[in-house]
Amino acid sequence: MYGYPCEFCEGTVQARTVKREAFKHRDGFVILEDVTIGVCDNCGHRYYSANILHAVHAVAFDQRIVTPTHCLTAKAIRSNLKPSFA
Ligand SMILES: [Zn+2]
Repeated sequence: MYGYPCEFCEGTVQARTVKREAFKHRDGFVILEDVTIGVCDNCGHRYYSANILHAVHAVAFDQRIVTPTHCLTAKAIRSNLKPSFA
């Protein structure tokens, strides 16, 4: 799923599993743990798969974020993350 050219430079987007990643959402931030994202090996731009963005939306709406500064952890939604990007 990763390994494609970066949109912003000559680098290549590599899969990277991070402990915590904060996703900006309309109503605040959603934090996913142990999530695999794409990171450009040259400029460091981060790319998120459709599965991840879907999970962020699901968490945001399921948990009913009410304040812009409210953060959530989302271990529960890891079952929604398909292994296709692993
Ligand atoms: Zn880049």
